[in-house]
Amino acid sequence: MDPALTSNGKPFIIKLNPKKSNSHKNLISIKPSPDQVQFKRSILGNRQSSKVDRAVYAVFIINNHHGGIAMDKLLRIDMGGEGGPKVAVEPVDGYAGFGGRALTSAVISKEVPPACHPLSKFNKLVIAPGLLSGSVAAMSGRISVGCKSPLTGGIKESNSGGQPSQVLARLGYAAIILEGKPDGKDLYSIFIDKTGVKVAADNSLRMLGNYDLIEKMKEKYGDKIACISIGPAGEMLLGAASVAFTDMELRPARHAGRGGPGAVMGSKGVKVIVLDDSGLPMREPRDPAKYKEANKTFVEGLRKHGVTGQALPAYGTNVLANILNEAGAYPTYNFKQGTFTGVSKISGETEAALETERGGMATHGCHRGCVIRCSGVYNDKDGHYLSKQPEYETVWAHGADCGIDNMDKIAMLDFLDDNYGLDTIEMGVAIGVAMEAGLLKFGDADGAIDLIHQVGKGTPLGRIIGSGAAVTGKVFGVERVPVVKGQAMPAYDPRGVKGLGVTYATSPMGADHTAGYATTANILKVGGYVDPLKPLGQVELSRNLQVATAAIDSTGMCLFIAFAILDQPETFQALLDLLNAFTGLSFTADDVTEYGKMVLKMERDFNIKAGFTKEHDRLPGFFKTEQVPPHNVVFDVKDEELDQVFNW
Ligand code: SF4
Repeated sequence: MDPALTSNGKPFIIKLNPKKSNSHKNLISIKPSPDQVQFKRSILGNRQSSKVDRAVYAVFIINNHHGGIAMDKLLRIDMGGEGGPKVAVEPVDGYAGFGGRALTSAVISKEVPPACHPLSKFNKLVIAPGLLSGSVAAMSGRISVGCKSPLTGGIKESNSGGQPSQVLARLGYAAIILEGKPDGKDLYSIFIDKTGVKVAADNSLRMLGNYDLIEKMKEKYGDKIACISIGPAGEMLLGAASVAFTDMELRPARHAGRGGPGAVMGSKGVKVIVLDDSGLPMREPRDPAKYKEANKTFVEGLRKHGVTGQALPAYGTNVLANILNEAGAYPTYNFKQGTFTGVSKISGETEAALETERGGMATHGCHRGCVIRCSGVYNDKDGHYLSKQPEYETVWAHGADCGIDNMDKIAMLDFLDDNYGLDTIEMGVAIGVAMEAGLLKFGDADGAIDLIHQVGKGTPLGRIIGSGAAVTGKVFGVERVPVVKGQAMPAYDPRGVKGLGVTYATSPMGADHTAGYATTANILKVGGYVDPLKPLGQVELSRNLQVATAAIDSTGMCLFIAFAILDQPETFQALLDLLNAFTGLSFTADDVTEYGKMVLKMERDFNIKAGFTKEHDRLPGFFKTEQVPPHNVVFDVKDEELDQVFNW
C-alpha cells in the first residue's frame, strides 16, 4: 500500500498491490474455450488488454478447478414457459469466471435488450452468490441481485447479506436466472435442495408481508432453510420494491433494496425462493492449509482495525451519524442543511444503548462467518422484537432527512419497509420530498408511518410514494429532488463529501454510496485523505473506489472489509491469499483491479445502449447552486472532470 496518499494535488490512488506476484504461469497456461473467447468478445469487445483477459480467465479457474462443491451450474427458470414454468440446469460455460456482481452484470449485458421495459418478459432477474461464498472464508456471504432497473432504467446490481448466498453456493449454483413472464396471475414459490428444484403455484401467499411469509415457509419446510422473497411492494411492481434475504435467525431483514429488483421478481410471478443445503458440505479450497492460514490473517486484520474491529461491532453502521453530522454532511430536511439538531437521539451510540438496555442485541452478524458483526436487534420498550438494528442510511432517511428524531418510530418504519419489501433509502427520501411539497410536516413520524402503510396497501398515494423519490417529486411538483438516474441519494450530502458526489453522479447504478464509498478518504481518513470540501482529487478517488468495489462485489465479500484492506497491506494480501489458496493460482492485485474495470465497462456499455449519455452523469441542479450550511459549499466538481471518471 502506498503510504503517500495525499490531497496535495496528486491523484488519490488506491494501490491494491502490496506484494506483487511475479508469476502468472498458472494463469497464462490456462486456455479459455472458444465459447469463452467468443462470449468475452461479445460483451467486452475485441480491444481488451491482456490484463483483462488474465483476470477473466483467472476467475474462470476459480469456478472450475477446485476440490470441493463446484459452483458450476446456472439454474434458469423460464416463468413464461409453455404450460407453466420451465426449469433448466445448465453449465456456466461462457459465464465461467464471473461471480456476484460480475455475473449478474454479465448476464444482464449479454441477455437483456437494453431498451426493453424492465417489467417485460425480456428482462431477467439474476441472483448470484460471490466467488468465495459457501466456503469458510470470513465475510464471504454477500449475494448480488441484477436486472434492468425499473427505477433507473439502467443496469442494476444490488447486494445483500443474510444466509442465502452461502446456501445457494453450497447447492452448487453460480446463479439463479428468472426469465420470461407467466401468462396468468398465479404466484409461485420455488424450493431448491440437493435433490432438485420444485416450482409450484401458491396463491395463498398473495400480499403476505415478508415476516408472515417466512413463518409460513418455516412451518412448511422447517427451520434449516434460507429464503429469498418479496413483499406486497414487489407484487405491486413498485419501483422501490426490494428483494429480502433471511438472516441467521430466519428473519427477512436483509435486503437488496436499491433500484427496485423486487418489482422485477414480482413481474416474474415469484414470491419466494426457499433454499435448503442440508447434507451438503462447505465448498473446499484447493489448498485447505493455506486457505485456513490466510483466513486467520484476514480475520486478525479485520479485528485489529478501528472501524471493523471496534466501531462497527459496537455501534453498527449508525456510528456514522455523529461523524457525518460533525462533518456538516448529514443531509437534513430534504438536503437543506448538513446538520440535524436531533442527531444525538438517533445516533449509533443511542441506538446501541437502547438495544442493550431492552434485551436486544447491539452486535450481531447477518450471516454465518461474519466477524465484523455490524448488525443488531432492536426491541421495543417492552423488550419485544421491533426490527433488526436499522442501518445508518435507514436511520438517516427516515430520521434527519424527514426531521424525525424518535428512534422507536424510525425502527417501526424500518420494520414496515422490510415487511412490505421496500428500499429504506428510497422510502425515506420520497417521504422527505413529500414533506417538502407540504403533504405532511417535517418531523411528523406518525404521518410517515401512515404513508408506508399506504404503500404496503397499495392506495393511489401509496403507489406514488412507493414508486420512489423521483416520481413523488414529479407528482407533487417539487424541484429539489435528490436523485441521480432516478434513484434517491443516500445519507451523505454530495456538497460536503464531494468524492461521494462524484460516485453518485457517475456510477452506472445511479446515486449509490456503496458503488464508490469516498467517505473513507473524505471523512474517515481511511486509505489516505482527500479534503471533502474541495473538488481536487475527488474524481480519482471515486474512480479507484468504484473499480475496487466492483471487484469486491464479485467475491461475495462484505464491502466493509474495505476499511481494513485499504489501510492494512497485510489484510489486503490475506484477501488475495484467500483467492489464491481457493484456486491454487497467483491472482495479483493488478488482476483484481482489471476485473473491477471489466465489470464497470460491461455496466456502462449496457447503460449507453439503454440511452444514457454523459448528461445523465450529473447531480440535480440545486446541488450546484444552493449552498449547504454549515460549510456553505456547493457541488463544484466540473462536468468535464466527471466525464473523465471512466477514462483509465
Ligand atoms: S459486517 Fe454487517 S453487513 Fe457485513 S456481513 Fe457482517 S453483519 Fe452483514
